[in-house]
Amino acid sequence: MSAPVRFLPLVDTHAHLNLDAFAADLDDVVARSRSGRFPEIRGRRVEDALFRPFVAAAVCPAVDLESSLRSLELSRRFDALYAAVGIHPNHAALAEPGDWEAIERLALAAVDGDVKADATGAVNATDANSGVSSPLDGAKLVAVGETGLDRYWDDAPFDVQLALFLKHLELGRRTGLPVLIHSRDANDDLDAVLRDFYADAAPADASVFPNSPDSPNLTPKSPSPGVVHSFSGTPEQALAWTELGFYLGFGGFVTYPNRKFAEIAEAARVAPLDRILLETDAPFLTPHPLRGKLERNEPLTTAFVAKRIAELRGLSVADVVRQTTENAARLFRFPTLPTEPTP
Ligand SMILES: [Zn+2]
Ligand SMILES: [Zn+2]
Repeated sequence: MSAPVRFLPLVDTHAHLNLDAFAADLDDVVARSRSGRFPEIRGRRVEDALFRPFVAAAVCPAVDLESSLRSLELSRRFDALYAAVGIHPNHAALAEPGDWEAIERLALAAVDGDVKADATGAVNATDANSGVSSPLDGAKLVAVGETGLDRYWDDAPFDVQLALFLKHLELGRRTGLPVLIHSRDANDDLDAVLRDFYADAAPADASVFPNSPDSPNLTPKSPSPGVVHSFSGTPEQALAWTELGFYLGFGGFVTYPNRKFAEIAEAARVAPLDRILLETDAPFLTPHPLRGKLERNEPLTTAFVAKRIAELRGLSVADVVRQTTENAARLFRFPTLPTEPTP
């Protein structure tokens, strides 16, 4: 008699499935993520053969207005996909006048049931007879971003990145939506911004984000201001940022054996487990041991990030998956997630 298979429902909290890299075969990518059936990945055991990881949910960050709208559209098309709206720091200089305001209006309309926004973000008060078709209809907007600071690519002047980043943080505060924060070669700058912006906020308490008295229809607020995704800071920064209320997203970096990444692994070992999220940053940053073997990264490889964090912390993969999935559900206010893969 064989033991029953245990399913491990993963959440990929950062997957750019709204980018062109996935345009041709997104249905297949989502289907195999949900089923956990991906030959290149199944051939490498995550734990023992009786465990079958699958992706219960994935959050699609935006990089500009167009990908924000695409993220909303994907969240309408696929049960497992959730949307974010924002402008990536590397796209900060490319944004057209009005793009940010459109994103702002989309986020505000999403949390206020009485307001609708069209594809340009133009807002209309709901009127049963108006027939307004909104990109928000049926969409699942759960976050603002991605936003942040990037000195590695240096695609936009730093002061432009910073100004736009602060607008995203403000919008997160106004809407109660968690902010997806990107930081590359800019962790000290980020540290200063977070300490300054959240200095007066009590950590991780839902009451920090009370419903605004003039917007009584706002959806329940996230218990946290957001997540620092693809964490690349020091163990000290990991602890400081979780104390400010943030979650930390770990992805490919934590799996790379190179000494350069040792500090990130140490941060994943010491950070509070109830603040850790798994992510791919797909199509980028494929985790070890698949790095260089997959054409592009896909949500299901979060299983290998879970495996690495389990090793670092002396836990089972199942424990890490259970806890990180719970964390993601808490942060993004997911409805009940599937506990079994699709066939
Ligand atoms: Zn990023
Ligand atoms: Zn990203």
